[in-house]
Amino acid sequence: MKRHNNAFIINGKEVAARIRDELKAVVSVMKSDTGRAPGLAVVLVGENQASKVYVRNKARACEEVGIRSFQHSLPENVGQSELLALISELNASDDVHGILVQLPLPGHIDDALILEAISPAKDVDGFHPCNMGRLAIGSPLLSPCTPLGVMKLLDSIGMDISGKEAVIVGRSNIVGKPVALMLLKRNATVSICHSKTTDLQGKVLAADIVIAAIGRERYIKGEWIKDGAIVIDVGINRAKDGTLTGDVDFEGASKHASYITPVPGGVGPMTIAMLLSNTVDAARRLVKK
Ligand code: NDP
Repeated sequence: MKRHNNAFIINGKEVAARIRDELKAVVSVMKSDTGRAPGLAVVLVGENQASKVYVRNKARACEEVGIRSFQHSLPENVGQSELLALISELNASDDVHGILVQLPLPGHIDDALILEAISPAKDVDGFHPCNMGRLAIGSPLLSPCTPLGVMKLLDSIGMDISGKEAVIVGRSNIVGKPVALMLLKRNATVSICHSKTTDLQGKVLAADIVIAAIGRERYIKGEWIKDGAIVIDVGINRAKDGTLTGDVDFEGASKHASYITPVPGGVGPMTIAMLLSNTVDAARRLVKK
């Protein structure tokens, strides 16, 4: 494992590649056992360039591990009822085991209504209230991908999470809240911080595990990190010079942390790997031998 200053660097690209290899083997067994491959339907509405790139990357990643991918591209002005009709068709399809609606959706469409229309059993983004609720009661079915990726990175260093002080900065439904629930299930003592938190520095300084999911470039300073802490940086920010940076000052934090994730190359690669993993999990439950 490479080191920078005091910290070992958790290489998300390598961990994600290992997970993809494992999934490839599982998919191959599933195909020979059932004659069926897992299938992921990705729904893209409109011409958002970033969304198009994400969708293309997801399709390529599926192909690599043997998952069938079905892309449904709809025009920007598609009606909500037309989109709902497509989702209900995908819910009923035997070839589709995972459904992902690429966000953001155009303003005339109610995101929540669309996400709730996806069958919870095929909700590979894990955003359906039923899946969020299951996570909250400690009985998850399909959980959000980025938080799952964070947990895999902690597991990749053999971290015993039980009893540790975990501080999460950010309380979004897609990262902060679900990762808090996952850490709680693993018996960490969890604090969730946000923009109204007082003495953020003091709270981060007390943490054995720091998860940064803020969306503000290098907001968490090196001197906020307790010696020996583990730092997972979920943030992806585009700096003025065009480079990608995290929410943590990597240089400063790596002088105190025992392990740290880089940006890029940390949490980022894990998100798609966990989407593939969720699709394979969903297919294993849905496909009968
Ligand atoms: P949101 O904007 O939805 O949430 C940001 C959170 O940070 C909010 O809870 C907000 O608090 C909190 N926050 C903002 N400013 C401060 C502050 N000064 N002090 C403390 N807390 C603050 O972001 P997301 O959760 O969607 O994403 C967070 C980051 O993670 C972004 O950089 C995003 O690009 C990245 N990301 C990366 C992914 C990956 O694959 N690696 C996937 C998803 C996101 P409040 O609730 O009070 O407003």
